[in-house]
Amino acid sequence: MVWLKTKDTYSDTAVAASVAIALLKRTKQNTWTDLVRATDEADLAVAKVFKTVELTDRQLELLNAQQPILGLLQISPAVVPAICPQCTHFVLVSDVAPTRCMVTPDCPGKPYKVLAAVGAKENPTPEAPLEDMPGPAPAETPLTASEFDDDAFA
Ligand SMILES: [Zn+2]
Repeated sequence: MVWLKTKDTYSDTAVAASVAIALLKRTKQNTWTDLVRATDEADLAVAKVFKTVELTDRQLELLNAQQPILGLLQISPAVVPAICPQCTHFVLVSDVAPTRCMVTPDCPGKPYKVLAAVGAKENPTPEAPLEDMPGPAPAETPLTASEFDDDAFA
């Protein structure tokens, strides 16, 4: 199985688009509509890909919630969102993200182009793992002046 990893900095919309782009590329479908149709028609090649790809609950949730944006995606010629991290609005681009926010006037955000999620061997968002936290360092007993000076009282 392969998991799909998206960048930690991605917004919900970006995660959905990123996972969707990866699914389109892996299934060799050009648009989300094509993918849905192929799935409905029980396309064997597509079904095979879905058997190897594991999505997290959050990714499935986001894919469901972000259907409108998924319908805008296209692999070739490329149409992907460039999302502004400040105002969260996006524009569709084919090549590079605009150097500044084009949606909100005077927005200081610098849009980023959503890239396809990359394959990962492990669940990229495991349920709150229990980590071995290093225990607190043993408290050092500071030497007091009297201990230094013991000899003086002997
Ligand atoms: Zn913006």
